[in-house]
Amino acid sequence: MSSDFTPDQKRYLEGFVSGLTAARTSRGVGGSGKGEPTGPDAIHIKAQDRMIAGGGKLAEQEKFKRELHPFDAYGKLREQSEQNQAPKPADNFRWRYFGLFYVAPAQTSYMCRLRIANGILSHWQLAGLADVAEKYAAPYSHVTTRANLQLREIEPRNATNVVETIQDIGLCSRGSGADNIRNVTGTPTAGIDPQELLDTRSYAREWHYHILNDRSLYGLPRKFNVAFDGAGKIAALEDTNDIGFQAVEVEDGFGVEPGIYFRLTLGGITGHKDFARDTGVILKPNEATPISDAIVRVYIEHGDRTNRNKARLKYVLDAWGFDKFLTAVEEKLGRPLMRVPAEAIAERPAFDRMAHIGVHPQKQDGLHWVGVVLPVGKMTIAQMRGIAKISRECGDGDIRLTVWQNLLISGVTTEKVAQVEAEIAALGLTTKATSIRAGLVACTGATGCRFAAAHTKESAEEIAHWCEERVQVDTPVNIHLTGCHHSCAQHYIGDIGLIGARVVINDDGDTVDGFHIHVGGGYGPDAAIGREIYRDVKSENAPKVIERMLKGYLAHRASADETFI
Ligand code: SF4
Repeated sequence: MSSDFTPDQKRYLEGFVSGLTAARTSRGVGGSGKGEPTGPDAIHIKAQDRMIAGGGKLAEQEKFKRELHPFDAYGKLREQSEQNQAPKPADNFRWRYFGLFYVAPAQTSYMCRLRIANGILSHWQLAGLADVAEKYAAPYSHVTTRANLQLREIEPRNATNVVETIQDIGLCSRGSGADNIRNVTGTPTAGIDPQELLDTRSYAREWHYHILNDRSLYGLPRKFNVAFDGAGKIAALEDTNDIGFQAVEVEDGFGVEPGIYFRLTLGGITGHKDFARDTGVILKPNEATPISDAIVRVYIEHGDRTNRNKARLKYVLDAWGFDKFLTAVEEKLGRPLMRVPAEAIAERPAFDRMAHIGVHPQKQDGLHWVGVVLPVGKMTIAQMRGIAKISRECGDGDIRLTVWQNLLISGVTTEKVAQVEAEIAALGLTTKATSIRAGLVACTGATGCRFAAAHTKESAEEIAHWCEERVQVDTPVNIHLTGCHHSCAQHYIGDIGLIGARVVINDDGDTVDGFHIHVGGGYGPDAAIGREIYRDVKSENAPKVIERMLKGYLAHRASADETFI
């Protein structure tokens, strides 16, 4: 170091240089001095190196991560934000580590997706988010199919303002996009559900914070979903996740202490037509985090980093089989997993497919949850503030988001139920829905997502509006609209599922919005992948086609219990 520096300057510069070295080491770049990666990113760098050595060509996104880890680039994001600059593709991928998705050309702005463990937030957090939206984003939010919230139409100049103010109110958006472990979902009625076997909140929360505080768990081969089902009335759709934990009752006589356990299911990805499959493994609930950690690390080491279409956990399981995979998990964990035959497990208490809408008694005497219908997940900021106020004044202060794109206000006393319903109505929302609207799910679609082939939310509203006036459906029905093959709204598990398609309308090849329509999907005990029944239906015709399907179902079913399957 030059002698032109004062001792203080030298000390500062030495610290600065060693800080840079530490940053490089943490990224796994030459940390040991012998070319061997070390630090939290090493597990990823080594996996990439193995694929390169095997003759593979890393996917573009793997190169982005390798060149500059997003968590070493927050200063760059801030700089772009200060200059109101849109990100180039590599940075657009990186900023998803902070929950920011630049969605041009659909909108020339960012969407910010949060993380909300078990989908439960406090009234003051929802009110705070309304303030964030008012100041820096569009005046509404969307509840997602992972019981999460998204803010939209955020100009680049406000990108870091949103990320930071979300943290100011005790929430965060870290790792909610890109190749990371996504929002941890759980039973929305956890702790209040009369039929639950297990309150999932503490397990979802522990895993949520485990991820947030371990950098080596970011930058997986692809996105990764984990969900906890406590066996309550409302489905958490854990069987559509990479890891699904199902609270089960294990009966006596099968070599393990009878009681409540989690059953481990793996490899769900319904966009690729697969549900999570039973592994035969059960675990004590407090083992969920270490076992998830071991599973994720095996996946980090062996997931495909060359072909994005084959990079999910399902494909490691398909290639290896469950036995080999679970053996690798046991090695990582340092102990064997507990297994029981399927007969050891008691049948799950049944779902109530309308329990996310309307007033329902909690397990606590005299208290109720009130399920509020949101038009395919959308809440204005006035509604966000209004719901926060109702929860604060009439509920227990919690707001519980569901994978059905709506929310519950919990802890409402019998005396206050009517007041709560009236105040919800005064917000322009409702606690009552027809079967058609209660099970209506739609992804962002073409209004805000560049992948979409159709305007899903708008079509969902048109279908509901048209069919509600013409068909009296007396049984729950799920209609899912998804804009593209990414299947964010899980069209394959809907009784009726629509996937966006460009429909050619003339010999010049001009196209309009449309859908391919599937039928017969389901989840839980009725798990099934819907089959395509119509192709290339123009959006404008979709309401009439769905009307005919519903009428056909009602006319030909053997009983009200017969599903679309
Ligand atoms: Fe976008 Fe496709 Fe996901 Fe819909 S399913 S939000 S169109 S990526």
